[in-house]
Order: sequence, then C-alpha cells, then structure tokens
Amino acid sequence: MQKLPVEQSCYWLATRENYVASDPLSGSQSADYAVIGAGFTGLWTAYFLKQLNPSADVVVLERAVTGYGASGRNAGIVSTSIDHTHNLAIGHFGLKEAARLASLGLQNIDELSAFAKDCDFERTGQLQVAMTPAHMEECKRNLDVASQLGIQGYRLLNKEEIQQEVNSPLYLGGLFVPGGGNLNPIKLIDRLKEELLTRGVRIHENTQVASLDNGLVNCREGSVRARRIIMATDAYSHHLLPELLFRFIPLYDYILVSEPLNDEQKRAIRWHNRQGMVDGRTFFNYYRLTADDRVLWGTSEAVYYPPNRVDESCDHSEGHYETLRTSWIRHFPEAAELKFPYAWGGPIASTTRLTPFFGTAYGDTVVYGLGYTGHGIGTTRIAGKILANIATSNRTDLLSLKMVTEKPFPYPPEPIRSLSVNAVTASLKRVDQGESPNMLLRMLDLFGIGFSS
Ligand SMILES: Cc1cc2nc3c(=O)[nH]c(=O)nc-3n(C[C@H](O)[C@H](O)[C@H](O)COP(=O)(O)OP(=O)(O)OC[C@H]3O[C@@H](n4cnc5c(N)ncnc54)[C@H](O)[C@@H]3O)c2cc1C
Repeated sequence: MQKLPVEQSCYWLATRENYVASDPLSGSQSADYAVIGAGFTGLWTAYFLKQLNPSADVVVLERAVTGYGASGRNAGIVSTSIDHTHNLAIGHFGLKEAARLASLGLQNIDELSAFAKDCDFERTGQLQVAMTPAHMEECKRNLDVASQLGIQGYRLLNKEEIQQEVNSPLYLGGLFVPGGGNLNPIKLIDRLKEELLTRGVRIHENTQVASLDNGLVNCREGSVRARRIIMATDAYSHHLLPELLFRFIPLYDYILVSEPLNDEQKRAIRWHNRQGMVDGRTFFNYYRLTADDRVLWGTSEAVYYPPNRVDESCDHSEGHYETLRTSWIRHFPEAAELKFPYAWGGPIASTTRLTPFFGTAYGDTVVYGLGYTGHGIGTTRIAGKILANIATSNRTDLLSLKMVTEKPFPYPPEPIRSLSVNAVTASLKRVDQGESPNMLLRMLDLFGIGFSS
C-alpha cells in the first residue's frame, strides 16, 4: 500500500468537509492563557477557561491543523470510563474513588453528547466479545465490578445472543456495556473550534511551539507572553518538556477503514445495533461502523519507536495493516473480500497506571495534563476542565481526584525502556496465544504497572 500523508490516509481527516485553517501566529503577542495543542485536550481547556472567565483572553497554538494528532485519528469509540477500566481504578485508587470516577465518567458523556450535535454521535453502548472461556470469565468480572460500583445496565450475552448481535464464528459470548457510543472525532474537533471562535478564542494553526520560558511561548512564527501556559500536547509533550518522559511512554496505534459494506455483507455480519466493539484479547481489536457503514478496524497492539519517537515516520506500519486485514478475515470470513482503502496510525501517551496525570513546571507558569492511552475522547473533556481550573487557580472538587493529586509510577529511561517494552510485549503475545501470564506479567500485575493502548 502506498504511504500517503495522514491527511489523506486517515478516513476522518481525508473526508473533513470545507475546512479552513486559521492563520499562523505572527509577531509578539500577549494573552491571559496560551494553550499549546489543538486536540481535544487543548480545545476543551480553552472552552472551560472561557466558561470560568468569559472575558479571559485565550490563544490556542497548533503546530499543524486542529485535530492533527490523536484527536483526529482515533476510532471515535466513546467510552464512559475515564479510568481505562473500572477494575484498574479500584486497584490504583480504591473502591470509593473508583465509584466517583465511574459516576463522573457517565455524567461527562451525557454532557459531551449534548454538546456533540452534528458529530454523528450514536449512543449505541459497547460490546466486549469473548473468544475463549478466559475472555468470558473477564466479561463476568467486569459485570461484577460494575455492580460493585453501582453502575446499571451491563448485560452478559451467551453465544446465541452475541451472534444475533454480530455474527462471527469466533464469538462465544460477551458483555453489553451501556452509556458510550461512536462519533466522528473530526466533526467534534470542528464543532469545538467553531464554538471557541464564537467565544473569542484566538486559534493559530501551522504554528509550532519551539520552546517555553517563564511565561513566554516561543514559536518560529512569533511569540506569546501569557500569565499561564497550558500544555495539551499528550504524546508530543516530551518535545517541550523532556522530563515528562519519566512518567509516560509514547506509543503508536493503527487502524483500517473499509469501503462501505454492501447489503450482502450487512446481512452476513448483522451488527444492526451498531455498537462499538472490543474483543477480549490483551492485544485486542476494536471496531465500529462509520455513519456511512464502513468498518473501522483497529488494533491495540501499540508500538514503541525508540527513543520515544513521535513524528510522521511512525504514521504507517505495513506489518500492522497486514495483521489487521488477516484478523478481519478470521472474525468475518463471510466478508473476507472487503477492501480497506484507508490505513493510518497515531500517537498515544500511556502511563504505568493507564490514567492521565497533571502537574506544573517553570515555577507554576506552565500547566500540563497527559496520558489518556487509547481511551481519551471522554477523558480529555474532564482533563480540559481540570487544566482550566488549575490554570485559573479555581478551587473545585475535581482537583481532589487522585489522578490529579498522585503521579503514576515512573517508566525506566533508555535503554532499559526498550528492553522492558520488548519483554512485556512478547509476554502479552504469549498470553493471547493461550499461555498463562509469566512471572514478569504477574509481578507487574501485582504492582498495577503496565503500558497499553
Ligand atoms: C489510532 C488511535 C485510536 C484511538 N481510538 C480511541 C477511541 O476509539 N476512543 C478513545 O476514547 N480514544 C481513542 N484514542 C485516544 C485519543 O484519540 C487520545 O487520547 C486523545 O485524542 C488525546 O487528545 P489530546 O488533545 O490530548 O492529544 P492530541 O490529539 O494528540 O493533540 C495534541 C496536539 O498538540 C499538537 N502539538 C504537539 N506539539 C506541539 C508544539 N510543539 N506546538 C504546537 N502544537 C503542538 C499536535 O499537533 C496535536 O494536534 C485513540 C488514539 C489513536 C492514536
């Protein structure tokens, strides 16, 4: 497959309609708040800054175009969970905090869905599918955890029920997870941009921040002096603050999008309720239907490119595309002929606890938040609220969340970083091939440490 630039190979970016980029920064400017990065985190931060203080002068600086990073390249599967999994949240933060996160997550998606009009948001809920008895046990555990946290609406499905929903010979059962859905992420970016421009936020695209200083943002195109600078650069954050690498690892996830399903393929696969789906493997496939009935087929087998590389050279992986095409055929042999004309990758930031972290630098003039793994659509909205409240020194309950007050366990530096990523990846692959977790995985599990999309 030809390696097209991501603007052409990513289905969402390539089919974006009538997009007009805002002008780059020019000259020396000033603002109350300068936000770096125009993905979901940056745009929501600007949104909540204006909500907290409508007269605040807010400027957003983006090196490419809005949504160029993970926010415009993701699968668009919206989960209510802001903690990766509720089970992990109990392990890391305790039952009471996990219940608080779960209820915040549900309220967050209700609010997001009210905002995301015209973003093809379908609140279908999600299906976790089991392909082995061990996956089915995991579905049952997730159901138990949901009931411990008081979340309603989860439902176990047996083999016949799951195959009535989505007809794959591999499925033995599954779990319906309510509340979430699917949307078009680039439409959400465009909706946010439109809202911000209406509220007087200045957005400068094609403006790369080269360095930070106390209260000063330096770009090739100009500079901005600001009372507070908010870094919303997720997997790119080490380019400006290298010390953050202690707390996160940048990884790449890959996705295919097919041509629209024809009637025969739709009849064979069913999927009438259009849920976003994940299978039960450690390196799982995630998939959904787009508004025009294409299949988006992604893999969580995330790649680390040493040493912490995040740039255009990582945007494609032929090996992952091949594995994705093969896994599609395994799941849906009756639609084996389906062609996938779109293929791309994008960067995510993973922490050892798989939830984001927040902090300040340069004597508190810089505020940052990052580390949403591959589950950021909902979480970045809460993160934007958190960052806006930190930046305006506004006291709110949100700032007492443990994911705000506590930092994740650190990752080792290179070369141990590469060695450990390789060892863990190999061990996880063996689990997906049916082996039991080895000593390394059991130890990491004991400490609640990992990396994942
Ligand atoms: C392939 C893939 C699939 C995913 N699927 C899902 C999913 O289905 N559901 C889900 O919830 N999450 C998913 N995610 C995760 C989700 O997309 C991210 O967590 C979320 O978009 C992060 O948003 P962000 O704004 O923090 O970062 P980004 O969207 O990466 O934004 C950072 C922005 O900062 C800009 N920037 C970086 N450096 C500079 C600089 N020096 N100067 C100026 N600008 C700069 C970048 O260009 C970029 O636009 C997926 C991610 C990927 C990559």
